Amino acid sequence: MGRSMNLESLYLRLPVTLQNLAVGVEGRRVEKRRYGNGYDQVQTAVLTRDHFSYDQLQTYRIERLRLHLAAASRTRYWQRRFSDLGIDPGRSDPFEALDKLPIVAKDEVRAHRQDISDPALNAHDLISVHTSGTTGSGLIFFQTREMEQVTWATWWRYRQSHGLRKGEWCAYFGGRSVVPLSQTTSPYWRWNRPGHQLFFSGYHLSASTASEYAKALSNSHITWIHGYPSMIALLATLAIEQRLQLPKIKVVTTGAESLLPSQKSIIAEAFGVPAIQHYGQAEGVANISECPNGKMHVDEDYSGVEFVPVADNPGLFRVIGTNWHNQAFPLLRYDTGDVVVIEPDSVCTCGRLGRVVSVIDGRAEDYIVLQNGAKIGRLDHVFKDMVNIREAQIVQYKEGRIVVRVVPGQRYSLADEKALLKELEKRLGRDSQTSIKCVDSIPRTKSGKFRLVIRE
Ligand SMILES: [Zn+2]
Repeated sequence: MGRSMNLESLYLRLPVTLQNLAVGVEGRRVEKRRYGNGYDQVQTAVLTRDHFSYDQLQTYRIERLRLHLAAASRTRYWQRRFSDLGIDPGRSDPFEALDKLPIVAKDEVRAHRQDISDPALNAHDLISVHTSGTTGSGLIFFQTREMEQVTWATWWRYRQSHGLRKGEWCAYFGGRSVVPLSQTTSPYWRWNRPGHQLFFSGYHLSASTASEYAKALSNSHITWIHGYPSMIALLATLAIEQRLQLPKIKVVTTGAESLLPSQKSIIAEAFGVPAIQHYGQAEGVANISECPNGKMHVDEDYSGVEFVPVADNPGLFRVIGTNWHNQAFPLLRYDTGDVVVIEPDSVCTCGRLGRVVSVIDGRAEDYIVLQNGAKIGRLDHVFKDMVNIREAQIVQYKEGRIVVRVVPGQRYSLADEKALLKELEKRLGRDSQTSIKCVDSIPRTKSGKFRLVIRE
């Protein structure tokens, strides 16, 4: 993140030792920014809020939103919106004022980016954030230092509840290109020593390199693994297939993609520890963290989260949010494009007050649309017992045809293919033309993410 294209191409041409040095320099810079001046106070405040009573939490939320509406009214975009809709952002109930605003889509925000920024803030004090949209529609905006620190403190609050402490070594499997694609020999990892991270390349992970990954993990001091569930699950699958020795770790934490049940079980089998997940996005309008009871709680102090029903899909809700910790770029009722299933009236014995989400279903477009218009989601269940499949992706074509791309495991046979077709027929019916195509690998999105369902 933040590295310019030129620096990146320069980095990729360096020898491995200098690449490790460069990763360390960048690591130190990021470490200082995230956890430097002011972080300790922010963290104390964030941890304290975890023990708020309901009334304390409500008071805090109202105060945060009031401040945020005041910040928004200093920007041209929101000023115009407030006056067009007759909203007085200073009125007594800020949530009532918020309710009067329409939901704002990412395209709208992108088009008015300049006018949403607070002109009074000095760009030198701010951090530039680049989001990489899954469909290539990125967004660039500023955030305050406070926002970045609150975000990291909130993530550490969740990690700490699972027994992790800052400073423990972590193996990271993500979308960053730390190892040049042209490299064909080990090491497929780089060291961020100041940040205590061992970055692994997801792009080089295959049946022929998996043993080197397992060895590197075992020879390191890592106590946990974090990253894209698709990559960690692929390593888990290969480790089981090849009977590879994996290190003893505390937990696997996943992010960026939704953690599928099939991935959760294969990770548990290979590493002997649970995979836990949290949900968030660069815009910082919603954060959801798994608690030690395995429930996904909304971090209600972090931002203002609304769940808006998806038309024609009872039980499904869109995630809409207000980023009240980032006064540099106020987003009010911003549509994340993500969809969740809610556990209504769920009370968790962990004591957290946050609403409980049972499934994070990922992007709204992760659905297959049948000839009759019905939308079918949660297709990951199809692959639950398919132990001989390394990875799979469902491709829907315009005319209704569905092709399942399958990366076969060593023991994959015709019987697996038949079982998979039968599972698909159960969910999609006989009308749909479904076929299976074996491939060497599943292509990732521009930002390196795995998608279970795509449209072509
Ligand atoms: Zn809980």
